[in-house]
Amino acid sequence: MKHIRNFCIIAHIDHGKSTLADRLLSATQTVSAREEKAQLLDNMDLERERGITIKSHAIQMEYTYKGEQYVLNLIDTPGHVDFSYEVSRSIAACEGALLIVDAAQSIQAQTISNLYLALENDLEIIPVLNKVDLPSANPEEVSDDIIDLLGCDLEDIIHASGKTGFGVENILAAIIEKIPAPKGNKDEPLQALIFDSHYNPFRGIEVIYRVVNGEIKKGQKIKFMATGKEYYADEIGTLKLNQVPKNVVSAGDVGYLISGIKEAKEVKVGDTITDAVQPTTNMITGFEDVKPMVFAGIYPVDTEDYEDLRASMEKLQLNDASLVFAAESSAALGFGFRCGFLGMLHMEIIQERLEREFDMTVITTVPNVSYLAYTKKEPDTPIIVNNPSDLPDATKLDRVEEPYIKATIITKADFVGNVMSLCIEKRGQITNQTYLTTERVELNFDMPLAEIVFDFYDRLKTVSKGYASFDYHPIGMRESKLVKMDILLNANQLDALSALIHADNAYNIGKKMCEKLRELIPRQQFEIPIQASIGAKIIARETIKALRKDVTAKCYGGDISRKRKLLEKQKKGKKRMRQVGNVEIPQEAFMAVLKLN
Ligand code: GDP
Ligand code: MG
Repeated sequence: MKHIRNFCIIAHIDHGKSTLADRLLSATQTVSAREEKAQLLDNMDLERERGITIKSHAIQMEYTYKGEQYVLNLIDTPGHVDFSYEVSRSIAACEGALLIVDAAQSIQAQTISNLYLALENDLEIIPVLNKVDLPSANPEEVSDDIIDLLGCDLEDIIHASGKTGFGVENILAAIIEKIPAPKGNKDEPLQALIFDSHYNPFRGIEVIYRVVNGEIKKGQKIKFMATGKEYYADEIGTLKLNQVPKNVVSAGDVGYLISGIKEAKEVKVGDTITDAVQPTTNMITGFEDVKPMVFAGIYPVDTEDYEDLRASMEKLQLNDASLVFAAESSAALGFGFRCGFLGMLHMEIIQERLEREFDMTVITTVPNVSYLAYTKKEPDTPIIVNNPSDLPDATKLDRVEEPYIKATIITKADFVGNVMSLCIEKRGQITNQTYLTTERVELNFDMPLAEIVFDFYDRLKTVSKGYASFDYHPIGMRESKLVKMDILLNANQLDALSALIHADNAYNIGKKMCEKLRELIPRQQFEIPIQASIGAKIIARETIKALRKDVTAKCYGGDISRKRKLLEKQKKGKKRMRQVGNVEIPQEAFMAVLKLN
């Protein structure tokens, strides 16, 4: 065990974590030149296309240092806030962390929040100043920032470039010299932390774990402590670029397990694996169920595809346990599903996967957070409201609570004013302001989650000209003055467009919403009034004028192939449209409330 090192790489997004991981893999000859392709660990197509790491990954390297052979388990972590729970479990599986800081960008919000997670878990931190090859690199200043943050010495900071490979040997030496070997005892009862799982359509769920104490043996009867389920360890082993089957994986090491589990939800990240016959009494602490943060309706464009959509969602859930859904119906859209996501990125990914992998065409309705409503009759019993349409009638309502988050924003001193105005507009309350250096400021706000999950990040980038980084974590529910705004098209209420908004902003949002819908809904043969209402009261109104000319009129009698082409073009354009009553509504209109600024 004294020759094992378990470490992760933490960094703000785009600071070069995946690139550096690739360098470590080639320097340790874990991958041959033939297998090498950029960002090896990001093996989902979507991850490659978007250049982000969605799932965590683990990989084992072997490295000879001063004549002795070491096993280095690298645990790669996702960089996006939607997946921060996975980051926290990956960190818990390690003894040390490489803290990567871009030599041009310096410390950013996720650098800090991930660092705090690492420090809470008592990890040894190895600071790496990355991208030193960049002409815009500013190693002296950024080193000062790192020293301020960590209280380390200048000599502790390793200069590196994932692009050229510079510094990689020094990083490997530091991993061995500075990160402690794992401490567990292999003679104690089995205790292994699950920090990841993958779906394999042929072999079922692959569980990735770190053995803390004891040993896991091939064929052993094991138990997952949080779910109480028991399985046989059909196959176990360690993870190189491919799986390497073994008979035993011992305390300190990282491995995989296959035991015919078919559903991702039976495996919970953060759960403890133990022996079914001689279980440990101690569950590894920190386990929590991942909770969805954002909810939205997903409806088939063609109502006849409802059952197909259900089957597709069930299959998707087998390999993504963080997707939750329940059947719902909308007066406007018919049958569909209310789905819970970890965040907006997760929602986009699910929608994209439904379309790519399952060939579904779906409409997604306005996303919202999860509220708690209390009625006057039962003011102590919360009702969970995951769909604005489920909010009890205003006359019966006592109060509504919404989720709040603590936001950390790091920006340049010049932009503090802009960032503050934005946060205040988003109902934020400033709780702290710290000058990290004379140039860089850390701001903390308490804000409603609903205000930040949608377009906040884009707005922040604009007002700070790109010089702001942002991270957040939930801090619980708070009472808010929220009202339900309904939208009427042609005097019919369109339930899928209802939203909970803050009472003080209602008129403003109602007005903008009607204007936006007028832009987004194509003109039709007749005039369409759009109204926003709160209860029975109309707060805003716009009109979509009737279409004057029939688009196909000019084709009559004309070239038949041209006419067909035009019709086909219209059909394609219709792909993401939904007929509601006699009005055709495009997908963008359902998202209008997110794009009001
Ligand atoms: P991650 O989000 O932290 O995983 O970052 P990536 O590894 O995906 O890198 C983000 C971007 O920075 C990519 O375009 C990389 O090619 C680039 N990059 C990574 N490391 C270096 C480096 O050392 N030097 C330079 N010039 N670019 C780098
Ligand atoms: Mg990455």
